[in-house]
Amino acid sequence: MIKCPLCSHTAEFFIQDKKRAFYSCPQCQLVFANPQSHMIPAAQLQRYGRANKATKQKQLVQFIQPLLSQISWHQDGPLTGLNFGRVLDKSSLEKIESAGHRLFQYDPFIKTDQQVFNQQYDFVCCYRVLEHFQQPLKEWSLISSLLKDNGWLAISTSLLTDLTHFSKWHFKNNPTHVSFYQQQTFEYLAQNSDFKLLFAAKELVLMQKTSKSDIKRILI
Ligand SMILES: [Zn+2]
Repeated sequence: MIKCPLCSHTAEFFIQDKKRAFYSCPQCQLVFANPQSHMIPAAQLQRYGRANKATKQKQLVQFIQPLLSQISWHQDGPLTGLNFGRVLDKSSLEKIESAGHRLFQYDPFIKTDQQVFNQQYDFVCCYRVLEHFQQPLKEWSLISSLLKDNGWLAISTSLLTDLTHFSKWHFKNNPTHVSFYQQQTFEYLAQNSDFKLLFAAKELVLMQKTSKSDIKRILI
Protein backbone atom coordinates (compact mmCIF):
# COMPACT_ATOMS: atom_id res chain seq x y z
CA MET A 1 0.00 0.00 0.00
CA ILE A 2 1.36 3.40 -0.98
CA LYS A 3 0.27 6.55 0.81
CA CYS A 4 -0.11 9.93 -0.81
CA PRO A 5 2.94 12.04 0.13
CA LEU A 6 0.76 15.15 0.32
CA CYS A 7 -2.36 14.14 2.28
CA SER A 8 -1.49 10.63 3.52
CA HIS A 9 -4.60 9.08 2.01
CA THR A 10 -4.13 5.64 0.47
CA ALA A 11 -3.13 6.13 -3.14
CA GLU A 12 -4.12 4.11 -6.19
CA PHE A 13 -1.89 2.72 -8.90
CA PHE A 14 -2.23 4.95 -11.97
CA ILE A 15 0.12 3.99 -14.79
CA GLN A 16 3.49 2.45 -15.49
CA ASP A 17 5.68 3.91 -18.22
CA LYS A 18 9.05 2.63 -19.44
CA LYS A 19 10.88 3.90 -16.38
CA ARG A 20 8.54 4.59 -13.49
CA ALA A 21 5.22 3.69 -11.90
CA PHE A 22 2.86 6.53 -11.01
CA TYR A 23 0.14 6.66 -8.39
CA SER A 24 -2.82 8.96 -7.92
CA CYS A 25 -4.55 10.12 -4.79
CA PRO A 26 -8.35 10.01 -4.68
CA GLN A 27 -8.44 12.62 -1.90
CA CYS A 28 -6.14 15.47 -3.06
CA GLN A 29 -5.76 14.38 -6.72
CA LEU A 30 -1.96 14.47 -6.59
CA VAL A 31 -0.24 12.18 -9.08
CA PHE A 32 3.20 11.07 -7.99
CA ALA A 33 6.04 8.83 -9.01
CA ASN A 34 6.76 5.69 -7.04
CA PRO A 35 9.07 6.86 -4.22
CA GLN A 36 11.40 3.95 -4.97
CA SER A 37 12.19 5.58 -8.32
CA HIS A 38 13.30 8.89 -6.80
CA MET A 39 16.74 10.04 -7.87
CA ILE A 40 19.45 10.41 -5.28
CA PRO A 41 20.46 14.04 -4.54
CA ALA A 42 23.77 13.85 -6.45
CA ALA A 43 21.99 12.75 -9.63
CA GLN A 44 19.35 15.43 -9.11
CA LEU A 45 22.02 18.07 -8.77
CA GLN A 46 23.63 16.99 -12.01
CA ARG A 47 20.31 17.37 -13.86
CA TYR A 48 19.58 20.57 -12.04
CA GLY A 49 22.91 22.12 -13.09
CA ARG A 50 22.00 21.56 -16.70
CA ALA A 51 18.59 23.15 -16.20
CA ASN A 52 19.77 26.26 -14.37
CA LYS A 53 20.97 28.24 -17.37
CA ALA A 54 20.55 31.84 -18.49
CA THR A 55 17.22 31.23 -20.22
CA LYS A 56 15.85 30.01 -16.91
CA GLN A 57 17.02 33.24 -15.29
CA LYS A 58 15.02 35.21 -17.80
CA GLN A 59 11.95 33.09 -17.18
CA LEU A 60 12.40 33.45 -13.45
CA VAL A 61 12.56 37.26 -13.70
CA GLN A 62 9.51 37.21 -15.94
CA PHE A 63 7.72 35.25 -13.25
CA ILE A 64 8.74 37.38 -10.27
CA GLN A 65 8.48 40.92 -11.67
CA PRO A 66 4.79 40.83 -12.66
CA LEU A 67 4.10 39.11 -9.37
CA LEU A 68 5.66 41.98 -7.44
CA SER A 69 3.64 44.49 -9.45
CA GLN A 70 0.47 42.56 -8.74
CA ILE A 71 1.11 42.28 -5.01
CA SER A 72 2.11 45.96 -4.79
CA TRP A 73 -1.28 46.75 -6.27
CA HIS A 74 -2.91 45.19 -3.21
CA GLN A 75 -0.37 46.04 -0.56
CA ASP A 76 1.40 49.35 0.02
CA GLY A 77 5.06 49.72 0.86
CA PRO A 78 8.15 47.65 0.15
CA LEU A 79 7.68 43.90 0.20
CA THR A 80 9.83 41.22 1.74
CA GLY A 81 9.73 37.95 -0.11
CA LEU A 82 11.36 34.56 -0.31
CA ASN A 83 12.30 33.04 -3.62
CA PHE A 84 12.08 29.37 -2.69
CA GLY A 85 13.85 26.73 -4.70
CA ARG A 86 15.47 28.37 -7.71
CA VAL A 87 17.88 31.23 -7.28
CA LEU A 88 18.08 34.48 -9.22
CA ASP A 89 21.52 35.64 -10.25
CA LYS A 90 22.98 38.81 -8.78
CA SER A 91 22.10 41.23 -11.57
CA SER A 92 18.51 39.98 -11.81
CA LEU A 93 18.19 40.23 -8.06
CA GLU A 94 19.50 43.80 -8.10
CA LYS A 95 16.87 44.75 -10.67
CA ILE A 96 14.13 43.42 -8.40
CA GLU A 97 15.58 45.07 -5.31
CA SER A 98 16.08 48.42 -7.03
CA ALA A 99 12.31 48.92 -6.67
CA GLY A 100 12.79 48.89 -2.88
CA HIS A 101 11.70 45.31 -2.24
CA ARG A 102 13.75 42.74 -0.38
CA LEU A 103 14.08 39.26 -1.79
CA PHE A 104 15.66 36.42 0.18
CA GLN A 105 16.54 33.23 -1.59
CA TYR A 106 16.68 29.55 -0.80
CA ASP A 107 17.81 26.67 -2.95
CA PRO A 108 18.37 23.12 -1.63
CA PHE A 109 21.59 22.77 -3.64
CA ILE A 110 23.27 26.12 -4.08
CA LYS A 111 21.74 28.51 -1.55
CA THR A 112 21.23 26.29 1.42
CA ASP A 113 21.35 28.73 4.33
CA GLN A 114 18.31 27.86 6.43
CA GLN A 115 18.46 31.17 8.31
CA VAL A 116 15.89 32.33 5.78
CA PHE A 117 13.39 30.04 7.50
CA ASN A 118 13.62 32.09 10.71
CA GLN A 119 11.31 34.84 9.55
CA GLN A 120 8.02 35.31 7.76
CA TYR A 121 7.44 36.94 4.41
CA ASP A 122 4.87 39.03 2.55
CA PHE A 123 5.18 36.59 -0.29
CA VAL A 124 6.86 33.33 -1.23
CA CYS A 125 7.41 32.39 -4.83
CA CYS A 126 8.25 28.95 -6.18
CA TYR A 127 9.25 28.80 -9.80
CA ARG A 128 9.33 25.29 -11.23
CA VAL A 129 9.94 23.81 -7.82
CA LEU A 130 6.89 21.92 -6.61
CA GLU A 131 7.23 19.18 -9.20
CA HIS A 132 10.55 18.25 -7.58
CA PHE A 133 9.11 17.79 -4.08
CA GLN A 134 9.62 14.22 -2.97
CA GLN A 135 7.90 14.99 0.32
CA PRO A 136 5.33 17.61 -0.68
CA LEU A 137 3.54 17.64 2.70
CA LYS A 138 6.76 18.55 4.49
CA GLU A 139 7.60 21.26 1.98
CA TRP A 140 4.05 22.60 1.96
CA SER A 141 4.04 22.86 5.75
CA LEU A 142 7.35 24.71 5.62
CA ILE A 143 6.18 27.16 2.95
CA SER A 144 2.92 27.78 4.85
CA SER A 145 4.84 28.59 8.00
CA LEU A 146 7.02 31.11 6.15
CA LEU A 147 4.12 33.32 5.11
CA LYS A 148 2.68 36.12 7.16
CA ASP A 149 -1.08 36.22 7.57
CA ASN A 150 -2.52 37.49 4.29
CA GLY A 151 0.81 36.70 2.61
CA TRP A 152 0.89 35.62 -1.00
CA LEU A 153 2.08 32.36 -2.45
CA ALA A 154 2.88 32.23 -6.15
CA ILE A 155 3.67 28.90 -7.76
CA SER A 156 4.74 28.12 -11.26
CA THR A 157 4.34 24.49 -12.19
CA SER A 158 2.72 22.73 -15.13
CA LEU A 159 -0.75 21.83 -13.92
CA LEU A 160 -1.95 18.39 -14.82
CA THR A 161 -5.18 19.07 -16.68
CA ASP A 162 -5.96 15.81 -18.44
CA LEU A 163 -5.31 12.46 -16.81
CA THR A 164 -6.00 10.63 -20.05
CA HIS A 165 -2.97 12.27 -21.65
CA PHE A 166 -0.64 11.74 -18.73
CA SER A 167 1.16 8.83 -20.35
CA LYS A 168 2.17 11.09 -23.28
CA TRP A 169 2.91 14.18 -21.20
CA HIS A 170 6.55 15.24 -21.74
CA PHE A 171 6.60 16.99 -18.36
CA LYS A 172 6.40 13.67 -16.54
CA ASN A 173 9.39 12.25 -18.41
CA ASN A 174 11.93 14.35 -16.53
CA PRO A 175 13.08 11.93 -13.82
CA THR A 176 13.46 14.76 -11.29
CA HIS A 177 9.75 15.56 -11.67
CA VAL A 178 8.02 13.45 -9.08
CA SER A 179 4.86 15.31 -7.98
CA PHE A 180 2.14 16.45 -10.36
CA TYR A 181 -0.68 18.69 -9.24
CA GLN A 182 -4.17 19.23 -10.56
CA GLN A 183 -6.26 22.32 -9.91
CA GLN A 184 -8.22 20.23 -7.38
CA THR A 185 -4.98 19.55 -5.49
CA PHE A 186 -4.62 23.25 -4.78
CA GLU A 187 -8.31 23.49 -3.90
CA TYR A 188 -7.73 20.70 -1.41
CA LEU A 189 -4.67 22.45 0.04
CA ALA A 190 -6.53 25.75 0.29
CA GLN A 191 -9.42 24.15 2.16
CA ASN A 192 -7.21 22.22 4.53
CA SER A 193 -4.49 24.68 5.39
CA ASP A 194 -6.02 28.15 5.60
CA PHE A 195 -5.32 29.47 2.15
CA LYS A 196 -7.54 31.12 -0.40
CA LEU A 197 -7.00 29.83 -3.91
CA LEU A 198 -7.12 32.92 -6.10
CA PHE A 199 -6.02 31.51 -9.41
CA ALA A 200 -4.92 28.18 -10.85
CA ALA A 201 -4.50 27.69 -14.56
CA LYS A 202 -1.87 26.35 -16.91
CA GLU A 203 1.45 27.36 -15.35
CA LEU A 204 0.46 29.65 -12.52
CA VAL A 205 -1.13 29.21 -9.12
CA LEU A 206 -1.74 32.14 -6.81
CA MET A 207 -2.86 31.66 -3.23
CA GLN A 208 -3.23 33.90 -0.21
CA LYS A 209 -2.80 32.80 3.36
CA THR A 210 -5.84 33.62 5.44
CA SER A 211 -5.46 35.57 8.64
CA LYS A 212 -6.21 32.80 11.12
CA SER A 213 -3.29 32.56 13.48
CA ASP A 214 -2.90 28.79 13.49
CA ILE A 215 -2.47 26.61 10.45
CA LYS A 216 -4.85 23.70 10.74
CA ARG A 217 -3.05 20.41 10.90
CA ILE A 218 -5.74 18.32 9.27
CA LEU A 219 -3.25 17.30 6.65
CA ILE A 220 -1.05 15.42 9.05
ZN1 LIG B 1 -3.41 13.03 -1.47
